[in-house]
Amino acid sequence: MPANERKNNDRIRTEKQMEVKCDALMLRANDYKDNDKLLTLFAAGKGKITAVCRGVRKAAAKLRFAAQPFCFAEYVLAERAGRFTVVSAFLHDGFYSLREDIGKFYAASAVTEACNLLLPEGLQSDALLLAAVRTLEEICDGEEGHALVSFLLSALDQAGYTLRTDGCLCCGKRLRGRGAFSFERGGFYCADCAAADGVPASESTFAVLHAAARRAPLPAGDGVKRALRLLKEYFFQKTGCRAESLSEYIRLI
Ligand SMILES: [Zn+2]
Repeated sequence: MPANERKNNDRIRTEKQMEVKCDALMLRANDYKDNDKLLTLFAAGKGKITAVCRGVRKAAAKLRFAAQPFCFAEYVLAERAGRFTVVSAFLHDGFYSLREDIGKFYAASAVTEACNLLLPEGLQSDALLLAAVRTLEEICDGEEGHALVSFLLSALDQAGYTLRTDGCLCCGKRLRGRGAFSFERGGFYCADCAAADGVPASESTFAVLHAAARRAPLPAGDGVKRALRLLKEYFFQKTGCRAESLSEYIRLI
């Protein structure tokens, strides 16, 4: 075999070795160069990674689906010098019904947004990935507010920003009437203990968060909207990032 050909074969073999397969959820896609997109993927066993999807903005592109919001697929990636390129993808679930209902769309966007903002690059979290995919399924199937509140509580908990929903931080009692919420301590105070710390918080906010954390049926009323407003502000206080999709969802409900 001529030296050149051998060298070529070696190169091909090396490139093949650098091909990786992983189940991943598409969190975000930004236009890149003329026809490409830069994808932020939440990959099993890897965490958040950036991958180029070439030619995907052309109308007939075979991999268009792989750059769509909420695409959950097995991505085949070529890795070279720490950079990933999408080679192919096999769809597990496209969650297409999320694009037919604006409420469901923004609730689902709030899920992928929270993953993107809470997960630092390079840190893997298969539990969070699983929770995100399950939540997208729940949003497709039913009441999106409940699914979203439960997911945000669990995502914040996994990121180290646990929000306590068992009872008053001071005396342990359940909230009755008006109480307070402490952003610093991530929990509620009942009316009797509220004097020292926190912003006013209602019983209905507490009741929704308490039920959602336990996956129990939510109480009726406007508690979901109030709970999401509190979660949005808590998210900002802890991460310094505005959750734009979550804000949009709150405006819609
Ligand atoms: Zn108390």
